[in-house]
Amino acid sequence: MNVFRVRPAALVFVSLGVMFLAGNSLGQTRDDEFAITLPSARTELRDAPSESELLAPTRVVVLGTGTPIPDAFRAGSSIAVIHKGESYLFDAGAGAVRNAVIARYKYDIPSLYPSLICCVFFSHLHSDHTMDFSELAHTMWWRRNAGLRAWGPQGIERIVNGMREMNSVDVEIRTGGLQPVQNPDGFRVSARTIEPGVLLEKDDLVIEAFAVDHGDIRPAFGFKVTTDDLSLVISGDTAYSETLVEKAQGVDLLFHEVISQQGLLRNSPGFQRYHNNAHTTSEELARLANIARPGLLVLYHGLFYGTEEELVLDEISAIYDGEVILAEDLDVFPER
Ligand SMILES: [Zn+2]
Ligand SMILES: [Zn+2]
Repeated sequence: MNVFRVRPAALVFVSLGVMFLAGNSLGQTRDDEFAITLPSARTELRDAPSESELLAPTRVVVLGTGTPIPDAFRAGSSIAVIHKGESYLFDAGAGAVRNAVIARYKYDIPSLYPSLICCVFFSHLHSDHTMDFSELAHTMWWRRNAGLRAWGPQGIERIVNGMREMNSVDVEIRTGGLQPVQNPDGFRVSARTIEPGVLLEKDDLVIEAFAVDHGDIRPAFGFKVTTDDLSLVISGDTAYSETLVEKAQGVDLLFHEVISQQGLLRNSPGFQRYHNNAHTTSEELARLANIARPGLLVLYHGLFYGTEEELVLDEISAIYDGEVILAEDLDVFPER
């Protein structure tokens, strides 16, 4: 039961002395493994990545493992790939930016400081993947060296235009008064519409989008990220996808959404039909993993519908003998 779990976010709040209860009495945590001492609010600026950031191995931090269903322990869908001092986000569901701040200090990753995050790629435009887009683009925008770069399916421009209008009041207030504004254009988001293929190449980093099958939500994309020391595929939301199977062949990490087979049966016929079209059941994912054989299968964006979350692992392990884990927010990979 979640009520007995102490997740990283809760402990960070405790360490900050903020009144925040997560099923435990304040200060009476069962486990202080994740307790970290944070400085008070800190302004972070950076002209360029440091030497140690440039030399660090590629890392992946899961910022959000959730779904549209509100969850006290899971932010909306978001995965960050950190490579040579830059953070590349894949989706930005509600709470992802808050978790980025925590991860910045927990793992000492400067590029996860929100106004230093350069880039975000949206798999599709369902709100559980986009709710923190504005948060990401506008958090301390006046200190951004450059506006956020965003890639997304058709419709991304509409969202960016809407966000610009929403934020225009703040821009007028801050640029029209006494506040020093380092970059008056820092709020501007540059957006590109995704077509399948390579979206970004930088040094040894290659980010590629490929079409997946999210039922009648079209287009929807998965992503493949390759660097000199890591390869991974991120499913976004999708039903069983042959293209994904192909792209995920032998990758180090496969992050894949999932719906519990038993959880699915608890839905109304209408929702079962919808989910069967739009999402991948645990059985289907096990079959997929048997073909793709990733180094590690990481489940995120899990739809459980009241079943014990761990049940989905049993459902997969019954068919797939490879390594599989169910991600929690703020998990980091590779685990070294
Ligand atoms: Zn979703
Ligand atoms: Zn979706």
